[in-house]
Amino acid sequence: MFENEEKTNIESLGEFGLINHLTRQFNLNQKTTIKGVGDDTAVIDFQGKKTLVTTDLLLEGIHFDLSYTPFKHLGYKAIQVNLSDIYAMNGTAAQVTVSIGLSSKFTLEAIEELYEGIYLACEKYQVDLVGGDTSSSKQGLVISVTALGYADEKDIVYRNGAQEGDLIVVSGDLGGAYLGLQLLEREKLIYLENPNIQPDLEGKDYIIERQLKPEARRDIVQLLKDQGVKPTSMIDISDGLASELLHLCDQSNKGCNLYEEKIPIDPMTYETARQFNLDPTVCALSGGEDYELLFTVKQADYENLKNLVDISFIGYITEVAAGRNLITKTGTVHPLTAQGWNAFKNE
Ligand code: ADP
Ligand code: MG
Repeated sequence: MFENEEKTNIESLGEFGLINHLTRQFNLNQKTTIKGVGDDTAVIDFQGKKTLVTTDLLLEGIHFDLSYTPFKHLGYKAIQVNLSDIYAMNGTAAQVTVSIGLSSKFTLEAIEELYEGIYLACEKYQVDLVGGDTSSSKQGLVISVTALGYADEKDIVYRNGAQEGDLIVVSGDLGGAYLGLQLLEREKLIYLENPNIQPDLEGKDYIIERQLKPEARRDIVQLLKDQGVKPTSMIDISDGLASELLHLCDQSNKGCNLYEEKIPIDPMTYETARQFNLDPTVCALSGGEDYELLFTVKQADYENLKNLVDISFIGYITEVAAGRNLITKTGTVHPLTAQGWNAFKNE
C-alpha cells in the first residue's frame, strides 16, 4: 500500500500532508456514507434506522505494548474491538473514525503500518474510514476509534433482555487471547534479560493471533439472522466470560447457572495454561480480550442452533434469587465472580 522504505520524520509532511497521505487509499464502500474524510464533518444517512455509536481509547503502555505488538496488528485490532461492540448490539457496522496522538519517536513508516492494519480491517468488514483527528503527543502513541453502525429498532439486542429459562450461548473459544498475552509477556522478559535469545513462540500461532489479531464476530450475527434467531440479550467478551455474564444478569435482573465443562477452550489454550500453572477455566472466565459474543436465546431456539459448529451452550438463566453460579466439573457450586484480567497476578 505504501512504498516508503526509509525512516521519514513525520514533521516533514505537516498535519494535512500526513492525513492526506494516510487516508487517500481508503475507499468508501457503504451507501450510508454521504461524505467521508475531507470536510468539517462526515455525513451519514442511515435512512430511518437507529444509529449505533461506540468508542474506545487505546494508550501505549496501558492497552498495548509496542515491544511485541506490530503496528499493523495494532491498527487491525483497534478497529476490531469497536466493530465487536456494534455486532454485540446485533447491528451492522458501517463507519469508523480514527484519531491518533503521536510523539516524535514515531516515523512515518510506523504510522503507515498502523494504517495498513486499519485499512485491512476496514476492507474486510466493509466499513468506511470517514474521519478522525491527528495530534502530536508528549509521550507515546494514542489511538481512539469510534465506530458507527445501524439496526432496525426491532432487531437491536440489549444486555437487559435475558429471561428465566433462556439458554446461555457463547461463540468460538475462550481464554486464548489471555494466554497469548502471557506468552508475549514472558518472551519480552526473556529478551530484556538477554537480547541474544530469540523469542520462542513456535507452535503457538493460534493463541498469539487471538491476542494480536482478534476478529469481531460479524459472522455470528449473520448466522443468527440466517437461522431466524434473535438473542434475548447479548454482549461481547472483552473482559472475560464471568464479568460479561454478570453484566447480562445484572442488567436483566436475573441469575444464572454456568457449567464449567461446557465452556469452550481450545486445546492449545488448555495446554498453554497448564504450562503456566494456570487453571484453563479461570483463564476463560477472567482472561478477556477474546471478542467473542455471549448471548441468551429462548429455549425454543435450541433446535435452530444446536447443529452450528462455532457456538456452545454453556448454561441457562435463572430467577435472580437463585444467584449466579458456576457448576464445576466435579459438580460443586461456586458463586460466579468477576476477577477481571489481573485475577492471576497474585497466584
Ligand atoms: P478539523 O480542523 O475540522 O479538526 P482536520 O484538519 O483535523 O479537521 O481534519 C481534516 C479531515 O481529515 C477531516 O475530515 C478529518 O475527519 C480527517 N482526519 C483527520 N485526522 C485523521 C486521521 N488520523 N485519520 C482519518 N481521518 C482523519
Ligand atoms: Mg482536527
